[in-house]
Formats: sequence, C-alpha cells, structure tokens
Amino acid sequence: MEWAIFADVHGNLDALEAVLADARAAGAGRYACLGDIVGYGAEPDACCERVRALGCAAVVRGNHDHACSHRTSLAWFNPRAAEAARWTREHLSEENRAWLRTLPYRAVAAGAALVHGSLFEPPHWDYVVDTASARRHFERQRTETAFVGHSHVPCLFALRAGRVLGFRPPATPLVLDPGAGKYLVNVGSVGQPRDGDPHACYCLYDPEAHSVEWRRVEYDAEAAARKIRAAGLPDVLAARLLIGR
Ligand code: ZN
Repeated sequence: MEWAIFADVHGNLDALEAVLADARAAGAGRYACLGDIVGYGAEPDACCERVRALGCAAVVRGNHDHACSHRTSLAWFNPRAAEAARWTREHLSEENRAWLRTLPYRAVAAGAALVHGSLFEPPHWDYVVDTASARRHFERQRTETAFVGHSHVPCLFALRAGRVLGFRPPATPLVLDPGAGKYLVNVGSVGQPRDGDPHACYCLYDPEAHSVEWRRVEYDAEAAARKIRAAGLPDVLAARLLIGR
C-alpha cells in the first residue's frame, strides 16, 4: 500500500488539491501529514477541513499550526510570517483552531517516525538542514526511517556506520536499504516550495518495498497568489509561490 506523506500546506488549497489528486492517481491509499497546514496562505480553514476529511493515519503539529492556534509570542517569526500568523489567528474557525491544538508533536505511522522539524526537542522546531542538525535528529530516531518537513526543501539524510550523509532527491523512486542504516526523508512543501521549483512537492512511500518517491505537481500557483493578495496578506508571500523561493 502506497502512502502519501506531505507537509507544509500553508493554507494553499490549490496546491493541496493538486497533490491529493496526484496521490490518488498514483494509487496512494493512506495519508500522513507532517504539519504546517496553516500560515502564509489565504485558505487555512479549507486546508484544515481537507486534511481532516482525509482520515490521515497521523497528523503532527507544525510551528505555524501551533502559533496560529495559541496566544504565544510571535517574536520567533520573521515580520512577514508574524503578520500572516496574526491574520490566520483572526480567520481560523473556532473548530479548526481547537483541532490544531490537539495535534501531537510526533507520531509513528507506516513504521516510520513523523515529526514536523526534527526529533531533537520537537517543541523547539529545529531545522534539519545539514549534517550537524541531522545528527541531533538521528540520535533520537529509533525507527529505521523518519519523515520531516519544515525547511520546505526536499532532501534525504542517511546515517551509515556513524557517518551522516546528505542527498538531493533523485528524479526516480529510491529504494532505501534499512539494513545499511537509518534514513531521514524531508518531503518538501506542498504549499510553499523553497528549493527554486514552484511545483508542489510531497512523497509517496511504500513501507514494504522501502521505496520513496518525491513527486512534483503542477498547480495553479497564480490562483493561490491572487487569493493571498485579495486577503491583504504580504505581497511577497504571493510572489514567492511563482518562483518557489
Ligand atoms: Zn512550514
């Protein structure tokens, strides 16, 4: 059974619908969401409802899900992210806010650990972007495979014989070798890719075959950008969707 594992939707319903259609067409029957369903984009409620209706095996909490559903300080965010978080707080329904508050920081599904940023102190939202941050994560990973989002940059880290290695995602499905070490898969971002490719990104995972496929999906980014501008959110949040930065 193929799993669709996705992260960082960020209120971009156009991208989410395109990803779910692609996953369905590819035969995915189970779903897991790695958080940041809201924040930045103009349709946070619709994205929450879409994810809730999927019947995901697991949904974990992202830093934006947390910030938009709690009265915490936004000092940690850059000014545009803070402005978007304030807007999202005002526009989220009470029901979806309550749901976001129930999300766990970590979960296990398909035999893999799921967390938004890193298993290194999940409530502190560490980014796994280099071998040092990957090592902090691996020290706490008990499963052979883990999936994260948070950086919006798809990639793979492997721990083999004590060495941490980083890889860019291959264009074709990759078969992991669990006997050879541990793996950390960053699934990229559905709603706000930052690796220079504006296509929505997510992973298909087959736990029996140990295969991971990073999928890039075309969607109407212009429509998502128009909605951001119409909502009065910072223009840069619309512009970045078109270039994937
Ligand atoms: Zn994010």
